[in-house]
This record gives sequence, structure tokens and C-alpha cells, in this order.
Amino acid sequence: QHGCRSSMTATRPLIGRLAPSPTGLLHLGHARSFLLAWWSARSRGGGMVLRMEDLDGPRVKPAMIDAALRDLDWLGLDWDGPWLLQSSGLERLRAAVDRLTDSGALYPCVCSRGDLRAQLSAPQQGDVEPRYPGTCLGRFESLDVARAESGRDASLRFRVPTGAVTINDGFAEAASFDVQAEVGDFMVARRDGTPAYQLAVVVDDAHQGVTEVLRGDDLLPSAARQWHLQHALGLAHPTFVHVPLVVDGSGRRFAKRADDLSLAELRARGVDPRAIVSWAARSAGLEVPKRPTARAVLPAFTLERLPRTQVRLSADDLAMLMSSK
Ligand code: GLU
Repeated sequence: QHGCRSSMTATRPLIGRLAPSPTGLLHLGHARSFLLAWWSARSRGGGMVLRMEDLDGPRVKPAMIDAALRDLDWLGLDWDGPWLLQSSGLERLRAAVDRLTDSGALYPCVCSRGDLRAQLSAPQQGDVEPRYPGTCLGRFESLDVARAESGRDASLRFRVPTGAVTINDGFAEAASFDVQAEVGDFMVARRDGTPAYQLAVVVDDAHQGVTEVLRGDDLLPSAARQWHLQHALGLAHPTFVHVPLVVDGSGRRFAKRADDLSLAELRARGVDPRAIVSWAARSAGLEVPKRPTARAVLPAFTLERLPRTQVRLSADDLAMLMSSK
């Protein structure tokens, strides 16, 4: 049984982070997580960094970077130093992949999605990613060999150690994940050589000195994968803080779909950003002045009253926001 050792982070200054993926417009769910991340770090005198995760998926749109910057500024959030465009650090990410390769922690995989589906005995339900069964483990000595023998480009997978990792979260209940049993050897570099999200987030958080990762609890299982990568790379583990997501009136999780109320849309309609701050603070159990700026909430901030359940954005909440002009 592995575990988080908070002592590793005890002597480092507190630094939080905002890490949007510019794949779509930011919505009220993002606003709430970003405000919480900012309040958590800033209320304790901590630093804050911003990173645009433009390696996260094929749907990245450059215009979304500008939109996100405007949204964050509009909400009254700030960060220290220049923000980091993830793709500008490709060399650093590739160096981390090389280090893992040299230490024998990775292996090439030529399985396509179709191959993996065919290898499964039972059909999978929903969007839960099936466990990688280790098909290519021990098969190829190197990427070149894999390419030559299979005629395909290969991705690189991380040889996940067996056993459970316990994430002692700063908010969510401590949770154990046996990544090898649940996910298997996950991908750290895609077939085209692009570093995958799990690797990029770990290397860049360390590069930016991040000691607190506060984000939506949909990423709690990812924390265990990231813990393994931090361990393999000799990086300190940040404190993880996973908070419940915001759902819409019908209980559906907010997603970056066109029909969700984006911050850009609310801004265009003349909504007062302090009404959003007020909603986010009240939904986190905080008592705040009527129309607070993000900064005005800092003295009242604590995670102690944050509800453990998903937050529903009600019709009343929406009406309040819309009439806040
Ligand atoms: N960029 C990811 C997202 O917007 C979040 C990554 C993270 O917080 O670790 O979904």
C-alpha cells in the first residue's frame, strides 16, 4: 500500500493552479472550481499559476485560449508570472518521457482502439475506459522495433506497479485506487509522440512549482495515476483537493457543449461577474457580501462548509445571474 506523504510538500511554498483545456468555452462549473482553487491558495497567502493545457486532446481551439483568459480576468482572478502554454514545453515533456523510458518504466504499444475492444470478453458500458490488458508488454524492445515489426506507429505505456495508492485528499474522502487492476498500463505518449494528459499534467505542475491541485472530483481517479508518475519521476506529490462538480437543473454534469451557459455568453449578455462570484461563494457555504469581488471573499474562505454533494445550478440561481446586470 502506497500513500501520499504530505511531509514532502511541507517545506515548499503553497502554490495553486488553474489549468483549463482550451477545447471549448468555460462554463459556470469551471468558474466555481477556478474560484475555489484561487480562494484556497490566495486566502493562505499562496501563489497561483495558470497553464493552458493545449495538448489535452484533438479538439483544442486557439480562440478558446483568448476566451479563457478573458473569462478568468472578468471573474477577478489573477496569477503570478506569465501563464504557461503547455505545448511550448514539449521538450521538457519529451525529456520526462525519455527518463521514464531509460528507467524501463515504459513500453511501446501498437494496439489500436479496435484491437483493444476486440480483446475484451464483455462489452463495456458507458464511457468508462476499459482496462488495458498488457497486450504489448514485453513485445518490442523499442519504438523503432515496434514500428518495424508492426508497420504501425507505437504509443508508450507506463508499467503501473501493482497495489493500491491512497489519495489523502484535502477535501474528498481518502480513496484507494489500484491503478494496475482498474486501468492497467496507461498511455503517457500518443502514437504521434504527443505527451498524454497524465504525463503532461504531472511534469508541468512540478515545473510550475504547484503544491496544491484543486479541481473537480471527476479527476480523482486520475490523481492515483498521477501519483504513480510523480513517484516514478522522483517528483513531490502535490496536495490534491477534489471538489464536487456543478450539475444543471436536470442533474446533468456541465460539459463544454454549445448549449451550456458559457462565461463568454454571460459576459456578452452583460451579467455582473460579481453575481457569479456570489453564487459560487454561497454554494460553497460561505457568507459573503451581496455582490463580492473574488478578492472580497478571501477573508470568509474555508473549505469546511463546502457541501459534499454535487451542486445544482437551479432556475432561481440562473434567474439571479441573468438579472444581475
Ligand atoms: N485541463 C484539465 C481540464 O480542463 C484539468 C487538468 C487538471 O486539473 O489536472 O479538464
